[in-house]
Amino acid sequence: MLSCRDVTQQASDHIDLADEPLHRPSLQVRLHLLLCRHCRRFVRHLRATRTLAAQVQQERQRGDQGERILQQVIHPKAEE
Ligand SMILES: [Zn+2]
Repeated sequence: MLSCRDVTQQASDHIDLADEPLHRPSLQVRLHLLLCRHCRRFVRHLRATRTLAAQVQQERQRGDQGERILQQVIHPKAEE
């Protein structure tokens, strides 16, 4: 059986490939996650962090205009 260290090292790939239709997740990783609540929690938190980071990135791209205006208000001379 994989160690917790092995699973945490493979967690990012496990999440990346989970949505690929032809990808079959590693049986060893799945078995470990089935038996280890610590790694399940780690993977859940990693997935949530990545989702949040992607949302922040999207909001920043959408909010460039607002960010520029905010910077002008905070640092009025920097834009002149
Ligand atoms: Zn574990």
